[in-house]
Amino acid sequence: MLEHYTEAFVFDNKINKELDAVITLYTRDFGKVIARAKSARKITSKLNSHLQPLNFANVRLIEKNALSAGKQRFQVVDALTIENNSRWEKNPGNLAKFLNIAQFINEMTFELHQDLRLWQAIKKIFSADLVELEDRIIYLGLLKILGFDSEHASCVVCDNPQTDYFSKSEHIFLCIKCACPAKRDSLAAAGKITQNQLLFIGNAGR
Ligand SMILES: [Zn+2]
Repeated sequence: MLEHYTEAFVFDNKINKELDAVITLYTRDFGKVIARAKSARKITSKLNSHLQPLNFANVRLIEKNALSAGKQRFQVVDALTIENNSRWEKNPGNLAKFLNIAQFINEMTFELHQDLRLWQAIKKIFSADLVELEDRIIYLGLLKILGFDSEHASCVVCDNPQTDYFSKSEHIFLCIKCACPAKRDSLAAAGKITQNQLLFIGNAGR
């Protein structure tokens, strides 16, 4: 059994049958980690208040032997908020927007792949100062870090250089005509922008 301390961003927090919570984190040291928090849903749980979506927290993780632990390899045993999600409360639209961005990164990443550039981008995107930045600029910056550079991309269906969307399920760029309206939920806005607009994420991807 190993013990780790790391800084983490909370993507998701879901209850399971035993009143435990399953917490999905993006950690500085290990990338994405899915961990259990015992009895986190009890009304008295202090731990759970530190593990709300969009929080940054310092967490203490226990890692069990991978072979014997099965799905519950990691457990969060301690967490202390660095920055909590109350910064979004004044604007419910922003809360929804940033929850969507968090879900997007969650869906686009695999467990235990550390990526410090992505960690730095998460820190910038979910700090209050980038709150006014357009969605598509954030998505394109994230896609670039994740290895999907829009600069020379075109629609995979019709070759239109104007790519308006990125499909999260198929990992392809699409133009507005070819992006099926019924599937918009699985699409991230990804209209063309100048490369300078991506500088908010630093020199990521270069
Ligand atoms: Zn097209």
